Amino acid sequence: MEMNLGMRPETRALLERVAAMVRDEIAPLETEFHAEVGRGDRWQFTPRQAEILEGLKARAKSEGLWNFWWAGDGGPGLSTVEYAYFAEEMGKSPLAPEVFNCNAPDTGNMEVFHRYGTEAMKARWLRPLMAGEIRSAYLMTEPEVASSDATNIAMSCVRDGEDYVLDGEKWWATGAGDPRCAVYIVMVRTGGDDLPRHQRHSMIVVPADTPGIEKLRAMEVYGHDDAPHGHMHIRFSGVRVPVENLLLGEGRGFEIAQGRLGPGRIHHCMRAIGMAEAALGMLCRRSLAREAFGRPLAELGANHDIIAECRMEIEQARLLCLRAAWMMDQGDARAAAPWIHQIKVVAPRVALKVIDEAVQMFGAQGISQDVPLAAMWHHVRTLRLADGPDAVHRRQVARAELRRHTQARV
Ligand SMILES: Cc1cc2nc3c(=O)[nH]c(=O)nc-3n(C[C@H](O)[C@H](O)[C@H](O)COP(=O)(O)OP(=O)(O)OC[C@H]3O[C@@H](n4cnc5c(N)ncnc54)[C@H](O)[C@@H]3O)c2cc1C
Repeated sequence: MEMNLGMRPETRALLERVAAMVRDEIAPLETEFHAEVGRGDRWQFTPRQAEILEGLKARAKSEGLWNFWWAGDGGPGLSTVEYAYFAEEMGKSPLAPEVFNCNAPDTGNMEVFHRYGTEAMKARWLRPLMAGEIRSAYLMTEPEVASSDATNIAMSCVRDGEDYVLDGEKWWATGAGDPRCAVYIVMVRTGGDDLPRHQRHSMIVVPADTPGIEKLRAMEVYGHDDAPHGHMHIRFSGVRVPVENLLLGEGRGFEIAQGRLGPGRIHHCMRAIGMAEAALGMLCRRSLAREAFGRPLAELGANHDIIAECRMEIEQARLLCLRAAWMMDQGDARAAAPWIHQIKVVAPRVALKVIDEAVQMFGAQGISQDVPLAAMWHHVRTLRLADGPDAVHRRQVARAELRRHTQARV
């Protein structure tokens, strides 16, 4: 029986179509898609890759299985809770989020354009992003500063006549290696030390082909460059963009960042839970199908306990994630924040544990290229850093907890 907390019956029907497409059409093409990387230029899509990806996207779009994340006019109108179930299904295949135009960091960037973009930006960037024709990247993290404290961000952005001029370096710009990545949303420093710490930064829109932008290298994740999307290290030298590219106004970068990261974190977490479900399914099937010492692996040692612990932890993580999503739906982002911080720590931790147990049950094949578990593991491991390391989220959880008691004393 499927859990139905906060899901309308019509949404359930839509979700089932997504689940079927992930299982029957997308997942079976994954191995072939990834085997194509490196046939020729790693940073271009091969004709077969383009055919697979664009073919799946066209089908999803024509069926109306598109832009589920978009809660505004013309979208499917899902609540955050409902969307969370979709993110879980999409998490079961690395290709799936893009097939439904629901992939990070584009969804967050599209939200930013919707909320804060000018009409010109919406026409130039948002329309093709919503249509899945181009891709985008979000550039905040810098090599020279501890970026988990975003008030450290240092990229210089100085007004010169009708332009802003940007200088500095960014790294871990996910998706910036993709040949279709046409635009960056960049966190920069526009204000001096005289301003309060959260009013010194701004966000600015920079076309990826602006002169002065240099992609230095792709950062590797445990030895993988994640081509052709990549996590790029990028240098800006005298990069000029018109003043109207600044979003919302000077000093308002943090306001935008908060709006951007809340829903995005829930999406990441539910995708991680989807991966954990996929891994536990693999673990169970393997443990029933393979025998050692005269019995199925499932019957040996502590394997029943391992399976039970995995199931229980996934269920706890999913409920916490839905609670965080429900808090978002109540319309008070401040009240929702401690819940989002909790799940951002819990979901990757649970997913990592389950994937690791699945690796173990598979024996040596578990860490090999023959099964997707190794790729799942290093992807989820990065989530303990990306969008804020665990320690930063735990700090916020503790501060919210302590605040309740401080207020109680007053
Ligand atoms: C695969 C991947 C993709 C990414 N994609 C993007 C992207 O698209 N765009 C982007 O801008 N960035 C991206 N990032 C970067 C990511 O958001 C940063 O790495 C993260 O915010 C941490 O910043 P930092 O690496 O500078 O770590 P630091 O700020 O140097 O922190 C290092 C460590 O210090 C400790 N620490 C920090 N604060 C505290 C605290 N309050 N209490 C206790 N300990 C603490 C923690 O152990 C932390 O892990 C990505 C990272 C990865 C790995």
